[in-house]
Amino acid sequence: MTTLEIKDLHVSVETEQGEKEILKGVNLTIKSGETHAIMGPNGSGKSTLAYSIAGHPKYTVTSGEVLLDGEDVLAMSVDERARAGLFLAMQYPVEVPGVTVSNFLRTAKTAVDGEAPKLRTWVKDVKGAMENLRMDSAFADRNVNEGFSGGEKKRHEILQMELLQPKIAVLDETDSGLDVDALRIVSEGVNRAKENTEVGVLLITHYTRILNYIKPDFVHVFVDGKVAEEGGPELADRLEAEGYDRYVSAKA
Ligand code: ADP
Ligand code: MG
Ligand code: MG
Repeated sequence: MTTLEIKDLHVSVETEQGEKEILKGVNLTIKSGETHAIMGPNGSGKSTLAYSIAGHPKYTVTSGEVLLDGEDVLAMSVDERARAGLFLAMQYPVEVPGVTVSNFLRTAKTAVDGEAPKLRTWVKDVKGAMENLRMDSAFADRNVNEGFSGGEKKRHEILQMELLQPKIAVLDETDSGLDVDALRIVSEGVNRAKENTEVGVLLITHYTRILNYIKPDFVHVFVDGKVAEEGGPELADRLEAEGYDRYVSAKA
């Protein structure tokens, strides 16, 4: 059983106007096997939360804690975070020029596990995971994210998650830019990982659509850099019907 605890997290970014506080005291606890949806209006700081957990250098944690089974995540390098079992799928994945998907996955798997995967089972695992995500085998020979369509990027993220078997996965807008078929395939990948590995999932999304496929146990409404309301799946249904107006206008 793994627990990721985010405690009173405050995060700033450097802007042209100086330091700007984006996260204003975030509290969240995610355990193995749980799926938490973070939903909120654009600009509320959802991606900032994902980047902060990932250790992106642009985001400065000014106070608060992120603990993985009591270990200080904020003191870890980006690699150490991955080895500790955190997986972060970014809203805007970067290109990795000259590195094929196949090599990238193997390198990442080796880094996370601390040893190279056994070749024969690895090749079989990759092939199986790609087939499940309806990915053409030629995809493995392409360079990471180079010329990937939106859907290919998302499938590649989920492929990584299925193969790396993290303890906690943070998925930022995995649904954006996907048509219904791709959304279903990607969601099935997340659900397979949940069944096979008990991964705890933090699913960040603006829209409720993906929650028809990946059922959240908890829903957190994120507004102006912190959690404004929490509940079960019924909260997502209410957001679907009412949108975020009540939170945003309450602030103005
Ligand atoms: P969301 O993912 O909920 O749409 P973001 O975390 O992307 O929100 O952004 C929250 C706020 O922080 C926005 O006002 C955005 O402009 C600002 N912000 C985020 N990252 C940066 C950055 N690197 N530089 C300047 N401002 C940023
Ligand atoms: Mg956004
Ligand atoms: Mg975002």
